[in-house]
Amino acid sequence: MDIDDFRARAKRKRKSLSAFLDKLDTIVPVDMPELVAITDTTVWKDINCTECANCCKTMTPTFKKSDVIRISAFLGIAPAEFKNKWLKKEEDSGDWVNTTQPCQFLVDNKCSVYEVRPKDCAEFPHHNKKPFDAYNETFKNNLIHCPATLTLVERLKKAVERGYDWD
Ligand code: SF4
Ligand code: SF4
Repeated sequence: MDIDDFRARAKRKRKSLSAFLDKLDTIVPVDMPELVAITDTTVWKDINCTECANCCKTMTPTFKKSDVIRISAFLGIAPAEFKNKWLKKEEDSGDWVNTTQPCQFLVDNKCSVYEVRPKDCAEFPHHNKKPFDAYNETFKNNLIHCPATLTLVERLKKAVERGYDWD
């Protein structure tokens, strides 16, 4: 995984791919779920998260109460200690998030709490959320963070523009 190459590609394509996602809100192909599923399968043949971990380095998950309880138990510490040590409450949303990046649990480019990681991490990058276009804002934001999302949206754009009257 060449992360510099990914960053350059994301910078170059972000605007056009975001415009595509915006347009997808108005022209949802009837076979969209199948198209996303098939295209996503091709993405994961080319991308290996263990060689990347860019989400863990540049973003923070949201820690729900159940996440804090589960991970604290795994680490053998109290939930309050867990929060004091690593988390802060975001003023606008009230969400509990990491105070630092990369994530404190990233060790040798791997998640050291993988079995009990936050639900948010387990579901990232949310490609199988339904309906797909309801998460366009998330995907737009993640274009510069996640090579898998960038690749998925690039491939979807190509497929949709080939198969539909897009003007
Ligand atoms: S908890 Fe694990 S998967 Fe989630 S951001 Fe931290 S290192 Fe990454
Ligand atoms: S989910 Fe995306 S950003 Fe995170 S490790 Fe996998 S490819 Fe990289």
